[in-house]
Amino acid sequence: MTKTNKLSWIREALTTLEENGLRTNIRTLNSAQGAWLTVDGRKVLNFCSNNYLGLANHPALVQAAHDALDKYGIGPAAVRTIAGTMDLHLKLERRVAEFKGVEAAITFQSGFNANLATIPALVDNKDIIYSDELNHASIIDGCRLSRATICRYTHRDPDDLRRRIDDNCAENYRRALIVTDGVFSMDGDVAPLDELFAVADEHGYLLMVDDAHGEGVLGNNGRGIVDHFGLHGKVDIEVGTFSKAFGVVGGVVAGRQEIVDWLRQRGRPFLFSSAMTAPDVAACIAAIDLLEESGELVERLWENTELFKRELKIIGLDTGVSTTPITPILLGEAPLAQQFSQALYEEGVFATAIGFPTVPRGKARIRVMISAAHEKDDLEFGLTAIERVARKLGVI
Ligand code: PMP
Repeated sequence: MTKTNKLSWIREALTTLEENGLRTNIRTLNSAQGAWLTVDGRKVLNFCSNNYLGLANHPALVQAAHDALDKYGIGPAAVRTIAGTMDLHLKLERRVAEFKGVEAAITFQSGFNANLATIPALVDNKDIIYSDELNHASIIDGCRLSRATICRYTHRDPDDLRRRIDDNCAENYRRALIVTDGVFSMDGDVAPLDELFAVADEHGYLLMVDDAHGEGVLGNNGRGIVDHFGLHGKVDIEVGTFSKAFGVVGGVVAGRQEIVDWLRQRGRPFLFSSAMTAPDVAACIAAIDLLEESGELVERLWENTELFKRELKIIGLDTGVSTTPITPILLGEAPLAQQFSQALYEEGVFATAIGFPTVPRGKARIRVMISAAHEKDDLEFGLTAIERVARKLGVI
């Protein structure tokens, strides 16, 4: 091996990605988030952000961030356990706990970090985790970091979970955790949380749900999946993110007081990484104010979702098993999905192709994210473009 070729494997791997239609092309935005974006200087319809309720550039959130900037400045300057916590962070944690109807909450820098913090703090190499096979990467990484035995159960299948629990000789382990996404981010289907609770309850296992795509979408005024199933007080850990429906950035764990107290002592991203910035925190509080005041945005999101899905079915496209605003258009091979995305872009619609490793090989897709920010005319514009591209590429 010579000094000059130590990075050649990366160049080769990138070329292979390119050849297989799997190299991600990241577009540059020159505008705020919203139904329409300026991308590389061109106005395009936004079909790919997680801005479910259109809050990412909402005047109330922007104003709250401005006010916090004036009072608190920008940076938190250190981790909270060392340099103290701003009262604003504690306020957000109280507000999230009240909104979700749980005992307590703790915030993190991101939803990804919330999962990395929580799972290793609750289980270790003496323990076992039962994890849905399609769980998000941040859950998978949190499970790996914990060093617990990981047992993947069939997607959304409580019977398979039961079988695997029976096979695993519980007496070999000290503790067990069942963990699932609430809404699965690539397919838009919903975990059977009531049935998973029944299994967890039968065995006295911890139950954790990642509600990243359920908050602001499911439940009363967007209170999330636990509210949707009426499981208040029954799910031990609800992980959330402020980066999707809440329109900001940051993560949260809501649930039992003991768990939150423990994460303040042992959640490594909490102990070793600085907190969310004050403007972000203030904007999140403003988002909760809006959701508590009115369910109007959530209703609009669902009206848009229903209209869009109905029309896609009429066009003859396959949206898989989605029952939420996450709307995949299943295409199969990655190069076709990339071609589809490029052709849509030329029609003025920004909808990203998603392939391996984000979804399994052969299940590449365009994933359309519907938002309350879309007007009916926007949806019609997008549908017309999708139909035209689908015909041109022989998909329908
Ligand atoms: N969990 C799920 C299910 C997600 O979809 C995401 C975001 N893609 C995250 C966690 C991570 O959230 P964040 O962007 O706040 O890190």
